[in-house]
Amino acid sequence: MLIIGSHVGFNKKEQLLGCVKESIKYKANTFMFYTGAPQNTKRTQIDKNITIEALKLMKENNINYSNVVVHAPYIINLCNENNFSFSTNFLMEELERCNNLGIKKLVLHPGSHIGLGVEKGLNNIIKGLNQVLDNTPNNNTTILLETMSGKGTELGTNTEQLKYIIDNIHDRKHIGICLDTCHLNDAGYDLNNFNSYLEEFDKLIGIDKIGCVHINDSKNSINAHKDRHANIGLGTIGFDTLIKIIYNKNLEEVPKILETPYIDKIYPPYKYEINMIREKTFNNNLINDIKLKN
Ligand code: FE
Ligand code: FE
Ligand code: ZN
Repeated sequence: MLIIGSHVGFNKKEQLLGCVKESIKYKANTFMFYTGAPQNTKRTQIDKNITIEALKLMKENNINYSNVVVHAPYIINLCNENNFSFSTNFLMEELERCNNLGIKKLVLHPGSHIGLGVEKGLNNIIKGLNQVLDNTPNNNTTILLETMSGKGTELGTNTEQLKYIIDNIHDRKHIGICLDTCHLNDAGYDLNNFNSYLEEFDKLIGIDKIGCVHINDSKNSINAHKDRHANIGLGTIGFDTLIKIIYNKNLEEVPKILETPYIDKIYPPYKYEINMIREKTFNNNLINDIKLKN
């Protein structure tokens, strides 16, 4: 069965319940959220009663909680030696929050080496991840390293780098990968040959390590190292290629999450994009439909 959803908002008042209600509107059966603003570390106390209510609503709407994903904030950069303890401490708190919420998957940008060089950067990521995972007893959440576009000095831009990180993590059980189609395109992978990408990935890391796929079209051409998401079918990757990835047999049990831009910055496109994906048919009038029906 197709497991599809989108990034949704998380607010102080409704917390997880708000995420579920928003996902139901989109006819999604999973979702991803930030536990606070992605750019800062302000986090609200998780309310147990709200979580229980949210779990109930998920059950009623066939949302399997084990497919729900949290995205760690961008400000965590395990490469950066100047605020290494800030990043590891915050990641540890985030991992704890996920455990308290019962979340199984936490997506993390591996980091940017900011001039330290690739090798040093990768080794700092490994050090940070080991520190966090080794010091979180009874952890039930897997950290999924996201494939990155190569904007600036980002690491995790190719399978070899991700393999190097994973191979050096002590707690292999709690580390995995989140593919992002826009990032893969921008990093130089031709998604028309997605099967050969997966084949290589399987040889180096193992397909079973893929815990999430971010489904985004790209505003830029292959190898642009830009990272600007486009709506489904309106970018350089294209609808048919994205559909093939979404319905790839090897990734059937992996949640697919849309992180495409709002239309005119105000209208969420997810209900319409999810509908196109379920129907496997591109809607030429997507943008107008979204504007008219909102
Ligand atoms: Fe991301
Ligand atoms: Fe992403
Ligand atoms: Zn991105």
